[in-house]
Amino acid sequence: MKGLSLGIFSSNKILNTATRFVNSINVFNKKNMQDQGRVRGIDPTQNEPWLDEFMRTSIMENVSYISTIRDEYFPKVESIVYQGVKNGSSPKEIREQLVQRIGMSEKRAKFIARDQSGSILGQMTAKRHKAMGAEKFKWSTSKDERVRDSHEKLEGKVFEYANPPAVGLPGTDYNCRCVAMPVFE
Ligand SMILES: [Zn+2]
Repeated sequence: MKGLSLGIFSSNKILNTATRFVNSINVFNKKNMQDQGRVRGIDPTQNEPWLDEFMRTSIMENVSYISTIRDEYFPKVESIVYQGVKNGSSPKEIREQLVQRIGMSEKRAKFIARDQSGSILGQMTAKRHKAMGAEKFKWSTSKDERVRDSHEKLEGKVFEYANPPAVGLPGTDYNCRCVAMPVFE
């Protein structure tokens, strides 16, 4: 079991997964920012000396999150199997417990991924807005009932990147789906 799981959680696989994840966020944000810049005839993604280091840091952060999930996962799986055998549980019962456990790890991974993509997107957007000459942004929520009250209050308000609201940039708060729209002088 451990051998099998180690395959999923090998350092190489984790690094590949994290790299693909951060790369796909970058591709998504790049296209968005190019579309927003086009109105002013600017491509903010043409010269990005900050990008390599930012990507590297984001990937390493992601690797460490995935590694934490792995480190929690192994002892739990071991204990399910060990306890199951000790208590004379049937293979079917043990299997059900394992499936449930894997589901929990998967949920946690998705949760972390969603939270992280918002945060990475928020930071990338800020850098690219500034590159297209927008020193200010307009806070835009998803305008549905899931928007938290503290962000609903910010809907449509304009902030300076140099002086963002207390909750931080759009998208960076825990599981936040808000986005920043560029404001040009
Ligand atoms: Zn929000």
